[in-house]
Amino acid sequence: MEKKYVVGVDLGGTKIYTALVDLEGNVKNEIVIKTEADQGEVAVLNKILNTIDTVLNNVDINEVAAIGIGSPGPLDVENGLIVYTPNLPFKNFNIVKPIKEKYNVPTYLDNDANVATLGEFMFGAGKGTENMVFVTASTGIGGGAIINGKLFRGSTGNALEIGHMTVMKGGPRCGCGNDGCGESLGSGTAIMRRANEAVNSNAVTSLKDYSEVTAKEVFAEAEKGDRVANEILTNALSYLGITVANIANTFDPDMIVIGGGVVNGGDIVLETIKQEVENRCLRSISSHCRIEKAMLDGKAGMLGAAALAILETK
Ligand SMILES: [Zn+2]
Repeated sequence: MEKKYVVGVDLGGTKIYTALVDLEGNVKNEIVIKTEADQGEVAVLNKILNTIDTVLNNVDINEVAAIGIGSPGPLDVENGLIVYTPNLPFKNFNIVKPIKEKYNVPTYLDNDANVATLGEFMFGAGKGTENMVFVTASTGIGGGAIINGKLFRGSTGNALEIGHMTVMKGGPRCGCGNDGCGESLGSGTAIMRRANEAVNSNAVTSLKDYSEVTAKEVFAEAEKGDRVANEILTNALSYLGITVANIANTFDPDMIVIGGGVVNGGDIVLETIKQEVENRCLRSISSHCRIEKAMLDGKAGMLGAAALAILETK
């Protein structure tokens, strides 16, 4: 029977988003449910199986080419294991085997940054490129790379941990233990940290009008003209831009796609990144490399998992 579909599963700490998708990326059936991670690994696995059953409703399983799963890491992709992840109950848990056995369909696993990269490459902003890097900036900074049309995973599956490139010697301490990582200077968390430092100083800023300040309030107040908020934002975005410029110089890609919560902060985000790329990259690279906003937003993980299933079975 002709294989017309794949199933994409976006496993997250708060929700599971599963869909039946055709080979062009059109969603046929979809469902989103709460993960309720505190119920434990067997309960969460059963929830995943239930979502797959739901989207397969009325579809012959013989028409399904493969199932793809995107999960936070670290993972052991080769053996289908979720090694450990802070927001999910799995510890060295084989997530692939029970799914593969139940449906008798090839099943693939990869980390959320890699599947989002595949999603943008196949169905989003990066469609039609050969060499593309995806950069996601929200609480952290991560990414993935497509080289010559294929996902580049590195030797241990951890390639493109781009948030941990050092961009300032002796800079702020990062969650990874290093100091001066791009993530500690250019992420949403970095914006929030600096904003709260300003609130607790004697600086004059409208950020003090809020009971709680996150990156969102900094974007809002900068837009209204608050000088302190604007300084915090342009500083952080320029470090994000430095990270992107370093990637452009390293990979010489056709396109760098920027996703994650930070990119929704308005035109200032892409403008600042483009300026840093312009200032810091070799002309031959910057004149070719397009910097684009990600297109798939909340569907990136699910469509990326579908893209993983399609590409792995090709
Ligand atoms: Zn780091």
